[in-house]
Amino acid sequence: MQISEDILNVDNVIYVFDDRLTLVEINDAYRKFAEANLVGSQFLSKFGAGCELLQVIPAPLRPFYADLYRRALSGEVIEHDYQCHSPERYRIFRLRLIPLDDGRVIAENSLRVDTPLSGAVDLDEAAISTAYVGASGLITQCMCCRKVKAATGADRWDWVPMLIASRDERLSHGLCRVCLELYYPDTP
Ligand SMILES: [Zn+2]
Repeated sequence: MQISEDILNVDNVIYVFDDRLTLVEINDAYRKFAEANLVGSQFLSKFGAGCELLQVIPAPLRPFYADLYRRALSGEVIEHDYQCHSPERYRIFRLRLIPLDDGRVIAENSLRVDTPLSGAVDLDEAAISTAYVGASGLITQCMCCRKVKAATGADRWDWVPMLIASRDERLSHGLCRVCLELYYPDTP
């Protein structure tokens, strides 16, 4: 089945995948999102049509998303809300997975909540090093809400706008306690 042009041309990020969890189609909004938020053409050659869908998902969340995708492939309509913040905006998106009658699944990401980010602190490089770089030399950033973990060992996570936007090489993926409990309660 060919996906209608109308569906693929909307603002929502849409992709279609098949039963091998291969990305088979992406829309213009997906391309634009990739270019604006990621590394542009490099991202598309790696994560565009033809790639393995789960590669796009941070490793610790793959079991969770693999389960969602497989349920959709077996005919279930799935809705899942997730956070994806920009430096200034608190944003929640809804992922809808809709099985198509040819066995493939269409995934649509629509913006549900978009408000200014509150509770954010901005810091200079020295303050970031002191407060957030851990003993390993890395900064742990929640892959859901993009808060970064305090280096003190206490379970405190803060929004630091500079680090939400940056491609700081010290950033490593983690999952804060709030997001873990809220979004992935079944994750061991
Ligand atoms: Zn989080």
